[in-house]
Formats: sequence, structure tokens, C-alpha cells
Amino acid sequence: MIAKNLVAVAQRTGRGIALEDLSGIRGRVRPRRNQRAVHASWSFHQLGAFIEYKARRAGVRVITVDARFTSQLCPDCGYTARNNRFSRDGFGCRMCGLAGPADHVAGINVRNRARLSVGTCQRARTCRLKADG
Ligand SMILES: [Zn+2]
Repeated sequence: MIAKNLVAVAQRTGRGIALEDLSGIRGRVRPRRNQRAVHASWSFHQLGAFIEYKARRAGVRVITVDARFTSQLCPDCGYTARNNRFSRDGFGCRMCGLAGPADHVAGINVRNRARLSVGTCQRARTCRLKADG
């Protein structure tokens, strides 16, 4: 249902969909024994697969971006630090003070990376900082 709605909105508004490529970081992440975390991760990958499948059928472009630091990076000033993400749900930049829900901020970073990769970033300086970061 989520995948279907996402693809429908993208198609209706003439947009693409940006997803984090988590395959590259799997090896670096400390294995967790928490069963819920494993299940959440499985669901996330399933969702990504559904989105890609439905997007392809609908002619909606899907861009996969590097997932590194998307939760630690400030989309405003480019400052990256582990403690920018001060809790599971909260983001607060230690440099410029930008604050917001952690998932939302990470989503902005994913979007910016996707835009940079296709050359449609409107804020090239900070997007590039993030891409290099
Ligand atoms: Zn900042």
C-alpha cells in the first residue's frame, strides 16, 4: 500500500523517487540480535523492492543513493557529526542549529543526493558537501 501510494504520487506530480542504498553499509553495521530490528530491516528492504518494481511499471524513475551519514549530516550547512543525531528521533545541527525530526532530515539528504546525481540540485554547494561528506 505504501509503495503503491508513493509511486502514484510520483507519477501524478512528474517526480522520481530516491531510496537509500543500504547494501553497502551492511558490512560495517554492528550485527544486532534484537529480533525487532532484524524484522524492521527486512521490511525496509521489502518496501524498497516493491517501490522499485511498481515504479518501473509506472515509468517512474528510481534513484538509489549512498546511505552513509544521511542521519548525521546537516542539509543546511553540510556539517556532519554523530551527535547531530542526538536521539533516535531527533536531529539538531551542532554547527548552525537546524533542527527537526531525524527521519525528515535524513530524507532531505537522500533527496539532495539524488538531485545531485542527476544534476538538478538547486543548492550545488551544500549538496556537493553532502555528497563528498
Ligand atoms: Zn547545520
